[in-house]
This record gives sequence, C-alpha cells and structure tokens, in this order.
Amino acid sequence: MSHPALAHTEAGVFWLDRPDAPEPAPPLAGAEACDLVVVGGGFTGLWAAVQAKQRTPDLDVVLVEGAAVASGASGRNGGFCSASLTHGALNGVQRFPGDIDRLLKLGHENLAAIAATVADHRIDCAFEATGELTVATEDYQLAELAESARALAALDEEVTVLDRDAVRAELDSPTYRGGLLDTTGTALVDPARLAWGLRRVALELGVRVYEHTPVTTLETRGPGLSAVTPGGRIGAARALLGTSAFPPLAPVIRRYVVPVYDHVLVTEPLSADQRAAIGWAGRRGVGDSANRFHYYRLTEDDRILWGGYDALYYYGNRIDPGLERRPETAELLAGHFFDTFPQLDGLAFTHHWAGVIDTCSRFCLTAGTVLDGRAAYAVGYTGLGVGASRFGAAVGLDLLFDPASPLLELEMVRRRPVPFPPEPLRWAVIQQTRAALARADRRQGRRGPWLRVLDRLGLGFDS
Ligand SMILES: Cc1cc2nc3c(=O)[nH]c(=O)nc-3n(C[C@H](O)[C@H](O)[C@H](O)COP(=O)(O)OP(=O)(O)OC[C@H]3O[C@@H](n4cnc5c(N)ncnc54)[C@H](O)[C@@H]3O)c2cc1C
Repeated sequence: MSHPALAHTEAGVFWLDRPDAPEPAPPLAGAEACDLVVVGGGFTGLWAAVQAKQRTPDLDVVLVEGAAVASGASGRNGGFCSASLTHGALNGVQRFPGDIDRLLKLGHENLAAIAATVADHRIDCAFEATGELTVATEDYQLAELAESARALAALDEEVTVLDRDAVRAELDSPTYRGGLLDTTGTALVDPARLAWGLRRVALELGVRVYEHTPVTTLETRGPGLSAVTPGGRIGAARALLGTSAFPPLAPVIRRYVVPVYDHVLVTEPLSADQRAAIGWAGRRGVGDSANRFHYYRLTEDDRILWGGYDALYYYGNRIDPGLERRPETAELLAGHFFDTFPQLDGLAFTHHWAGVIDTCSRFCLTAGTVLDGRAAYAVGYTGLGVGASRFGAAVGLDLLFDPASPLLELEMVRRRPVPFPPEPLRWAVIQQTRAALARADRRQGRRGPWLRVLDRLGLGFDS
C-alpha cells in the first residue's frame, strides 16, 4: 500500500475483530427434525428465527449458518439502520407509488421494533438514534437535494435542507456545499454486536443453532422438506432462506440477485483535537450524493468508518475470500477520505475489508416461495438491509405460515423485480452500467442514453 495512512492497515473486519465474539455453536452432526429450518445466520435469518418464536413459542426452530453468525454482510456493514424498506423513500415512491404511504409507515414501525428489541433484551450494540445527513459535494447536487426535500416533504417525511454553513456546522469538510438532514429515519448500530445479540435472544427463545453447517441441498421430502449438510440432514415442515448474495439453494434467487463487493476502511480512534477539527457533535451517519457514493460514521470509540464508492461485480456471480483484499480500492478510498477531511492528515487506517451486497434491480426486498410453498426466501436489500431485513424476515414467515397477512398484498411482495440476464450478458450489462454511472458523476449528474433506457425499464445497479 503506498498511501502512508494504509501502511499498517490490517485486512480484517473491525466489527468482528473482538475478543468477546461468541464461540460458534458446534456444526450439525447427524439427523435433526424441526418445524422450521432457517438457513443463514445474518440479520434475515436471525430475525426470522426470533420472530418465529415470538409469534408461536412452541414452533420448533433450527437455524443453520454455513460459517459463523454475522460472518456475511450482517457483520461487515456500515451499521446504518434505516427506517426505509425501499432503499430510500424516493426509490419506493417510484417503484410502488400505490403502497408508498403504507411502506413508509411500516418502515418507521420496523425501526421502532428494532429499537424496542435492543432495549428489551439489553443488546449492547451501541444503538444511537442519530439520524442521517446527506451531503452535496458538487453544485449540481444541491438542486437534486432540494428536489428530494420537496418530494420527501410531500410524503410527510421530516427533512431539513442545510446550506453550506449549516452542513459544515454539523460536520466540517471543505468539500461540502449543502446537505439534507433527516433526524428520524436512521439509527447507527454496531452490526456484529446486534447480530450476536439476536443470536443470544434466539437461543434464549429455544432456537437450536448450528454454525459451520452449510446446507448443500434443499429438497421436498414427504409433506415437508429436507436440508442436507456435510455432517447430517434436517427434516423440517418449512424452510426460510436468508442466504443473501451467497450461492443460492433456490435457483430463482440467482435471477434476481447479484453479489457486489463493497469496501470499507476504519481509522484509529480520533484524538480530542482531531474530533474538534471536524466537529460532528451530532454523530450523524453521513452519505454523499453521487451515484458512486461514500458512507461514513463514527464508531462508539470515535473511529471513522469510511466505505462505499467502488461497487464491484465479478464474472459468474463470483464470491471468494480473496476478493476481500483489493489494495487499489483501499488506496482510492483513503485518497477520498483525506480530500474530504484534510484536517485529519496523519490519521491512520487500522482495518480494511469488503463484504458482499445482494444487489437486485429494484434495490429492495425480493421475497417468494419455492418447493411447493414449503420454502420462502427474503433477499435483495441492496446495501440497505440492516433495518429492512427484519421486515424481510416477517414477510418470509407470512409467506410460510400466514397466507392472510396484509403484508402479502404489498406490490413489493406480489411483484418480482426485473431479472438480471444470464452470463455472459450479466457481466457486460453490469460493467456498462457501472461505467455509465461513473460518467454521469463526471458530467454533473447528467444521465446518458444507457442509464435513461435502464430508468425507463425500471432497472438499476446500486450498492
Ligand atoms: C460493506 C457493506 C456495507 C453495508 N452497509 C450497510 C449499511 O450501512 N446499512 C444497511 O442497511 N445495509 C448495509 N449493508 C447491507 C446489509 O449488511 C445487508 O443488507 C444485510 O446484512 C443482509 O442480511 P442477510 O442476513 O440477508 O445477509 P447476510 O448477512 O449476508 O447473511 C447471509 C448468511 O447466510 C449464510 N449462508 C449462505 N448460504 C448458506 C447455506 N447454503 N447454508 C448455510 N448458510 C448459508 C452466509 O454464510 C451468511 O452468513 C452493507 C453491506 C456491506 C457488504
């Protein structure tokens, strides 16, 4: 690494790099039987297991995780826990205009329910209801933010437009030209601790958890189904798949979801002088407004987590631990960090990692059933699943157990997104879209013909 701030950076996930991480549960060895098997120990799977037991305490639930709980996106993210179920209210209004009021209300209820679970079960995950600041770093973005503010106000979402001085009073960067403040729609969490806390709650509710237990095959068997693992087999009446962007057990997921690598850096803790040099008293999470955006926040111990920008797709939906180290992306992110905060010159990054986002073409939950309705999947949150995964899990449970649920009437649940084409077209389309988004960022946000066609088709690529 040539940037001096990266000279001693470890390849590893800051959130998971903790001496008090829970010891993984032993892998499944032999045969198991249950009413519901949940596959995946990220937020979707954990919330599914917890909510299943809260709804029906005598339901027998098993959760299997291929690696360790929170080892996927759920332990690697920025920790922005948003009320939005639709990757932003404006994406929601575009895609589901008839349901948007309901989706916004459900989203705020979902965030409140997450806060209540954290409080009721004393989950120590540094939950901070800070809200979120969106900043403009180019003049053309000011007009876009003003338009967003008008559209959000029309939806009764509380946002405030900030001018250059007001935004720099929140957090001081010479690159800022204005901003949009949303004080109610986002909390910050320590995501790994939230996942570990949900794991504990699931165990307390009687869920049996097996880690390092990948399900290799899921098939119907008798009136139920069977999940095969390297060391055993689980017979279950129903299955809920919270496998995100990982190689899917249900082939249909591969049509709708592509794995996209998103990279993150974390600094050493800031000194009191360094904090004073940037302000940030409100500790709000921040995102900038370009297509290729950065997101950043303070951790509980006053480090800065800085991620985003370079969303990378590899041919054939490739996922490989080797792809989590990419020095050129770390260099790029480090350069952008010091362009944003020149006052912090001399600060070092301690951690660099990447994780896989389950990008879908409409940027939000995609749920459905397979295997004659015996298995449900909930995937596709596209980089905004820390909060929405609780809702996705609830929809998955309704698909399995509650056919009369009003959630199943939502267009988001009834209608599938536009699928990605198969390879080799998939790779070509995504690379062309990434290049077109970068071009739009260089040209004051002007979307060229390729993006305009995709916009008309309701297709997108985001993180
Ligand atoms: C770098 C990064 C930053 C992000 N930042 C944010 C953010 O700030 N805010 C936000 O809202 N969202 C963010 N996201 C997205 C968010 O993390 C995800 O939407 C959310 O964690 C999805 O949870 P999940 O349980 O569906 O998936 P995951 O957490 O990926 O869990 C899926 C689990 O399934 C397991 N699995 C897969 N296949 C099998 C199998 N066959 N058998 C057994 N287990 C299996 C995997 O090992 C994995 O643990 C970010 C994501 C990344 C990668």
